Order: sequence, then structure tokens, then C-alpha cells
Amino acid sequence: MTQIVLIEDEPGIVDFVTRGLTAGGFQVHAALDGDSGLELALRERVDLVVLDLMLPGRSGSEILSELAGQRPGLPVIVLTARGEVEDRVNGLRDGAADYLVKPFALAELDARIRAQLRAARQAPATTLHRAGLRLDLLARRVTHDGELVRLTATEFDLLAYFMHNAGQVLTRQQILRAVWGYDHDPATNNVDVYVGYLRRKLAGTGREPVRITTLRSRGYRFEDAA
Ligand code: CA
Repeated sequence: MTQIVLIEDEPGIVDFVTRGLTAGGFQVHAALDGDSGLELALRERVDLVVLDLMLPGRSGSEILSELAGQRPGLPVIVLTARGEVEDRVNGLRDGAADYLVKPFALAELDARIRAQLRAARQAPATTLHRAGLRLDLLARRVTHDGELVRLTATEFDLLAYFMHNAGQVLTRQQILRAVWGYDHDPATNNVDVYVGYLRRKLAGTGREPVRITTLRSRGYRFEDAA
């Protein structure tokens, strides 16, 4: 079921939107302030966020920039009061997928949500998540439980290949082809050397250990503990 987080402090709007979207087949999780709203929006299974700008606690703009950093690709539809539009919406365009001016019709919100969900489904996945690790394939950036991990280009490609194939045994030959891009001399120890680099760089970060297991004479397996 599609999960929508609604962050809005006006109980009347929360009630009306929750009832309408639930009737439309969505599961709605509502928060009445910015801090609990951000917490909800960062949970694993969230498909879209509907966000009011003026909130007690953390403001809508702050939430938007947090989400842009931590969950790029998560669509956010902003709700604004009339008058906030001119001042704020220009600045929001980068972070918000869409916006609606209050008062709005539920049918309009429903249509905007469905359009954003369609667009999000068609976009290729640009991030990988496993075991506390998060790879942004576009920015080529890796974090482990939020902490930045600095990898070379080859280390990044190797980790991305492991994460794409988590839980599977990968032979050295498969890894060489996928990461180095050609049929390398099978006697080379590049794979072993780079797996060693990755283990070292990932050992010092994160709460959950990342395990790349060596299977004697067979290859390696990235353990998908999550
Ligand atoms: Ca408000």
C-alpha cells in the first residue's frame, strides 16, 4: 500500500486530507509538528510527503532541505497559505516536487499525488540502501549510518556491485568483469586488494558492521544483514 506522510498542524486539514486520501486507497501517517513529521518522513517505507510550510518546531523549509539531503528522490508536495507563495515558492522549487495553495480541493491533491508517484516509479533508482549503507549513484557519495565514507572511484563501483547483488556469491571473474570492465587476467589479485580496502574503510564507520565474506576458491559475498 502506498504510504503517505502528512505534516500539517491544522487539525481540520489533517482530518480532511487523511479521510480523503484513505478513501482513495492510500495509507496516511500524520504529524502535527515539524520534528515528529521529519522523523516519520525518514522512515524506511515512505512513498510521498505532503508538507505544510508553517509548522511548530522544525519549519517546512528545514524539513524540505533535510529530505533533499537524506532522501533525494522522495517526492514532496508542499502546502502553502496564500501570500506565502510569492516569497517562498521560488526557493522551494528545487526541493519540492509540487505545491498547492490553501484552500485546495481534495481531488486536486489526489491528482497531484498520483502524478508524482507515477513520475517517481518511472525514474531509475539513484540510491542503494543496505545495512546502514547508503549509496547515491548520481553524486557517487556513500554514507554509513549517516557518516560520510570516502571511496575512490573503483572502490565505489565495487561496493555498488556488491550492494546490487547482496547475499549472492560473486566470483572474482564476475567482479572483475563488472567493475574493471574487461576480461582481466584471472590471476590478478585486484579484487582481493580492493575488497581489503573496502573492508578497512567500512570498518570504522556505522553501527552495523558491513560484512564482505570470503568464500574459499569461490569468491565473495556481501552479507545483507538488513
Ligand atoms: Ca501551518
